[in-house]
Amino acid sequence: MAQRGHGLTQVIRWISYLMALGVTFAVGAAKPYLSSGDYAKYVQRLTCSVDDPDQDDKIRLKKVRYGTSGKGRPLFAHIVEPANSLNAKARNVYILGAQHGDERNTKIVLDFFVRELATLSNDFRNRRRIIVIPNYNPDGYKRYHRLNASNIDLNRDFPSADGHEDAPRAPETAAFMKLLEKYPAYSMYNIHQPFRVVLYYPEDESFARPFSLLSDYPLGTGVGYPTPGSLGTYMREKKVPIITVELARHMKAAVAPYIFEEIRFALYYSAFGCIPKPAQKSRIESYIAE
Ligand SMILES: [Zn+2]
Repeated sequence: MAQRGHGLTQVIRWISYLMALGVTFAVGAAKPYLSSGDYAKYVQRLTCSVDDPDQDDKIRLKKVRYGTSGKGRPLFAHIVEPANSLNAKARNVYILGAQHGDERNTKIVLDFFVRELATLSNDFRNRRRIIVIPNYNPDGYKRYHRLNASNIDLNRDFPSADGHEDAPRAPETAAFMKLLEKYPAYSMYNIHQPFRVVLYYPEDESFARPFSLLSDYPLGTGVGYPTPGSLGTYMREKKVPIITVELARHMKAAVAPYIFEEIRFALYYSAFGCIPKPAQKSRIESYIAE
């Protein structure tokens, strides 16, 4: 019996006809980078400003100890509370560094970011709670090692469907999961090194693309090896947008100001949902001078 192809089958058939005719398709052919002019326009479009911001009232970051590492080191989060009265509807945005302790410039870059946040007028707060954890794995960081003190990979320690049956095994993970209970995540940015890429799941493209365009880091959809029990897999199961940002390769601390400069606007946009106008002034000289 002759069968009519339906919907999808027919589309595929048409595509193969056209390809046979030498018609090429640009699938998802968004420009991978912006020209300098388009970049400036893009930044302009994402900029937010405040009329007559109170310069004497700066954003206060609460330094919250949310747990203790295996070796007894404090686990700290720096929290910008949402503007008063918007508390109940706050969107909790997480930005994490040094989940792998040897990726040390992730911590240094987020330390710079925390320091800069504190220079903004309090009037730039909005309905977001910004939670920055520069040093997620202080024991690994201390010993220049990817793993925590018990040799657990903290980015493979979450109770996702493909995770370890005893997950979470590390105190660092358990503490972070408690923080997540207190402040359920609206979005999450997990900063790693060294592949210089913005990794995302297809459903999170609207979060990944601005980060990529603002940093000029390419987009990518996988690291090329399985990551069971990763924070990415876990948050995806909870339907929370999560972007894994792999910073540039440079491991020397002296290069951190340049890496920060690359992703500054992307970090501000991720945190605030816009780029506060005063944040557009670069401080790179002061960081290099240190
Ligand atoms: Zn890593």
